[in-house]
Amino acid sequence: MHDPLIIVGAGHAGGRAALTLREEGYTGRLILIGDEPHLPYERPPLSKGVLQGTADLAGCSLCDSARLAELDIEHIAANPVTQLQPQQHRLQLADGQWLRYAGLLLAIGGRARRLPQEQANVLYLRTHDEALALRDALKPGTRLVVVGGGFIGLEVAATARGLGCEVTLLEAGPRLAGRVLPAVISEALLALHRQHGVDVRLNVALESIQADAVLLVDGQRLPCDLVVVGIGMQPNIELAAAAGLDVGQGIRVDTHLRTSAPDIYAAGDVCEFRLDGLYQRQETWRNAEVQGRHAALNLLGRDVPFEALPGFWSDQYDWGLQTVGVLTPSTVSRPLPGGGMLLFHLDADHQLQGACGWAPGNSVAKDIKLCERLISARRSLDPASLANPELSLKHLLRG
Ligand SMILES: Cc1cc2nc3c(=O)[nH]c(=O)nc-3n(C[C@H](O)[C@H](O)[C@H](O)COP(=O)(O)OP(=O)(O)OC[C@H]3O[C@@H](n4cnc5c(N)ncnc54)[C@H](O)[C@@H]3O)c2cc1C
Repeated sequence: MHDPLIIVGAGHAGGRAALTLREEGYTGRLILIGDEPHLPYERPPLSKGVLQGTADLAGCSLCDSARLAELDIEHIAANPVTQLQPQQHRLQLADGQWLRYAGLLLAIGGRARRLPQEQANVLYLRTHDEALALRDALKPGTRLVVVGGGFIGLEVAATARGLGCEVTLLEAGPRLAGRVLPAVISEALLALHRQHGVDVRLNVALESIQADAVLLVDGQRLPCDLVVVGIGMQPNIELAAAAGLDVGQGIRVDTHLRTSAPDIYAAGDVCEFRLDGLYQRQETWRNAEVQGRHAALNLLGRDVPFEALPGFWSDQYDWGLQTVGVLTPSTVSRPLPGGGMLLFHLDADHQLQGACGWAPGNSVAKDIKLCERLISARRSLDPASLANPELSLKHLLRG
């Protein structure tokens, strides 16, 4: 009997890879190993619908257990892989059993970066179970301090306001989501959160967290009932590093998502790949989805290089943010109905490299789809036409 294909990490990228392997006709033994007790699920609803109480785990799952059984995907849950031996083509699970593999995908994501001290009033948000713990703690009138003005912190702040909490948000840098967003969008986010009553403080440094307050370095004391820390994600590289695989800030892969070990691939948040000559990781739904599929194809020997446009979205209050492509510094802005905006990110030849849209509801989605097509068209575009809201993007596509 042949050794199975094994996927370690039953999250979004791992789940997608397993489903793709079957869709693509792989009929051999297929094992999906996770350390959480759940079926593979998508995380974006955790900071939105799950916290609000309008979505549940079944709604976030990539498939149900009947579908896994029907596809003959063996799902081993709550049993992490503790050791990998690439030369012997085998791995060990926490319960002690060893499994041999013919091909392996590491889609082991990451965990919330934590403060050095664990405290009862400090919560994090990465997993479904963490979302449930947070949901139970967010009662009307709860005084919440959110540490971190990135997407997790901002979405938690927005949801908590909707649930009637008093929210203070602390950001160490000079603007919100400053690492990834253009300044004008950071400003729009700041205005929206303040409009909804969030006490946003920029350029602040945390001194300590006490049982009933947060202390800032400048001596201020912020009384609170609960603290949510959203200071980024720690990629799970330890298993690969201990096995001697090449790692940097993630598990390093080549153009085919292959790691430094034969027959081992990586995908999703943990995967460090080269884009424009630089190693980088992407912590987005889109990346997990596309790389999960892609790694599956290469596990089947299709040998397809990985090429994909980056992109992400975030929902806060009744506004939506979406990006696609590379957000270069050179931008042209187009106003959108309802006070939103669409930023076109151009290169020196006025070719579109990326776009960033901010608008009420989900209305920006169709513009971003058209921008994706404009990026692929690789045509030089007239900045004045891009800025003109009267000229439809479809018209520009027809060129
Ligand atoms: C709260 C939240 C909201 C988000 N919202 C958005 C959004 O609005 N838009 C967007 O684009 N992106 C969003 N993201 C990001 C997106 O969800 C992630 O990029 C995506 O989940 C990454 O998928 P992954 O499969 O790489 O990792 P994960 O989904 O984290 O899956 C990895 C799995 O591997 C498991 N694992 C780890 N080590 C082992 C081991 N040794 N053995 C077995 N299993 C192991 C982990 O426990 C986990 O279950 C959000 C993320 C979070 C946390």
